[in-house]
Amino acid sequence: MTDKYQQDEELEELEELEETEKPGRDTGKGGDSDKNGDYEDVCFVCRRPESKAGKMFKLPNSICVCDDCMHKTMDAVSQFDYQGMLTDPQFQKDMDNVLKGGGLPNIRFVNITDLQGEGGIPYKQKIKKKKKKENAQPVLNIKDIPAPHKIKASLDEYVVGQEHAKKVISVAVYNHYKRVATGTMDDIEIEKSNMLMIGPTGCGKTYLVKTLARLLDVPLAIADATSLTEAGYIGDDIESVVSKLLAAADNDVEKAERGIVFIDEIDKIAKKKNTTSRDVSGESVQQGMLKLLEGADVEVPVGANSKNAMVPLATVNTRNILFICGGAFPDLEDIIKERLTKTASIGFNATLKDAFDKEKNILSHVTVEDLRKFGMIPEFIGRLPVIYTLEGLTQEMMVKILKEPRNAILKQYQKLLELDEVKLEFNDEALEAIAEKAMKRDTGARALRSIIEEFMLDIMYEIPKDDNIGRVTITREYIEGNGGPVIDIRSNLLLESSDNLKEYAQP
Ligand code: ADP
Repeated sequence: MTDKYQQDEELEELEELEETEKPGRDTGKGGDSDKNGDYEDVCFVCRRPESKAGKMFKLPNSICVCDDCMHKTMDAVSQFDYQGMLTDPQFQKDMDNVLKGGGLPNIRFVNITDLQGEGGIPYKQKIKKKKKKENAQPVLNIKDIPAPHKIKASLDEYVVGQEHAKKVISVAVYNHYKRVATGTMDDIEIEKSNMLMIGPTGCGKTYLVKTLARLLDVPLAIADATSLTEAGYIGDDIESVVSKLLAAADNDVEKAERGIVFIDEIDKIAKKKNTTSRDVSGESVQQGMLKLLEGADVEVPVGANSKNAMVPLATVNTRNILFICGGAFPDLEDIIKERLTKTASIGFNATLKDAFDKEKNILSHVTVEDLRKFGMIPEFIGRLPVIYTLEGLTQEMMVKILKEPRNAILKQYQKLLELDEVKLEFNDEALEAIAEKAMKRDTGARALRSIIEEFMLDIMYEIPKDDNIGRVTITREYIEGNGGPVIDIRSNLLLESSDNLKEYAQP
C-alpha cells in the first residue's frame, strides 16, 4: 500500500506543478484560456464532467482523469507488481520521468499528441457547461403534488382523447409522488403504483408518458423490451434501463431515484410457447425485472452502458422509481373474446360465438387472467397493479390531434411560416382528408406527420421565393393531388383587412 500512497503523492505534486505551470501549448479551445468558465473538464476514462465527478487530476497533454478512475487505475496497478517491479528504485525513477512527460530509456512511445486534436488538446476533453435554466419551475411540482384533476387538466392540453387513461395515470402518479414525498409510512406501507398500458400502436402511449415526465420535470428513460436479455447474453442487461435513467438525470442519483422508466413493447417479452430452449429474451427478462419493479439497490455504471467498462459504479435504489410498461398486445383481443363468449355461452342467456366481434373496445375488458394466458408470468403482472387500456384513434380524434394540442403539428407549421410573415390555413375538408389518409395507414397518429411532411415540402420550398405571398390555404383538392393550394397576395389581404375595419367602423 505504501507504493500507492507514494504514487498518489507524486500525482498530487504533478497536479500542483500543472496548475502553476500552465502548458504553453494550449490553444484557445476551452482549455486554460477559457476565461469565461464556460467549459469544464471531462474525465478521459468515464467521460463524466468535473461538476459530477469532482476534482480532476490533470495529466500531461491536457488529459484529465477523475478521482474515482485514477484510484481504480492505481489499485489495478498496485495489484500487478511484476516480480517486485514497482518497488524497484530504478523503475520508480523511470516512471517519474514518464509522468513528467519524458520517456522510458530505450523505449519510444507513440506520441499521443499526434493522435489527438490541435495543439495536443484531445478532442472532447472539454465540454460546454450546461446552462442552468433560470427559475425553471416545473408545471407540476412533485414535492407538492397537485390533485389528480389538475394533473389531468395539464395532460388535456397535450393529449387528445384517452380520457380513461389520463384519469388513471393522474391518480396513480398523484398517489406515487405523495408516497415518495412523505417517505415510508410506519404502519401501512403504501405500495408502488407501477402501470401497464395496453393500446394499439400510435395511440399515444409513449407520448402520454413523455408529456407527464416533462410536466413533472422528472427524468425519464424509455427502453425497448425487445432489446433486453437476461444478464450475460447478447443484448442489453435489464439493469441498463436504470443506467439510462441515471444518464437522463445528469448522473444525479437522487434525481434518478424519483424518475420514471417507460418500457415499451412489453408484449414482446411474453413467455414463448412450445420452446425447449432457454427463453433468454422472454420469460427470463420478466423474471429479471421483478426485483427492479419492486424496489432494489442496483449498481449501475456511470457514463457507460456496460459494467465491464472501467467506470465508477453508482448505487441506485429503484423503490421510488415509477415503472410504466406499454405494449400493443396484438393477440390479446382473441383471448378476451374467447373468454367472454365462454362465460356467456352457459345457461339461458347464451350468446352467439361472434357476438363480441363487432365490439370496438374489446381490450378494455382485459383481466389479469387474459394477460397470463398471453404469456406474462403472474409475478410480473402482480407487480404492475395499475392496468389500463388506450383506445384506437378515430378519424375525429385525428383531426383534433392535428389542430388542438398545444404543440399541434399545424401550429408548428403555422409558426414556421409566420416567421416569413405568411399565414397558413387549413380548411376543414383538408383536415378531414389528411385524417382519412392517416386512418388508412393503420399506424395511428404517427402517420399524420409523414403525410403533412409530404405535401408541405413544396409549400415550404416555393413560398419563400415570392415576397408577395401573404396567405396559403390548404384544400382537400391539394391533399388529394387534384389541385393546388389557394394563394393570396399580400396587397389583397391588406385590402380585405381594411374592408373589415370599415365594417366595424360603420355602426
Ligand atoms: P405509441 O402508442 O405507439 O407509443 P406514440 O405515443 O409514440 O405512440 O405516438 C406517436 C405520435 O403521435 C406522438 O408523438 C404524438 O405526437 C402523436 N399522438 C398519438 N396519440 C396522440 C394523442 N392522443 N394526442 C395527441 N397526440 C398524439
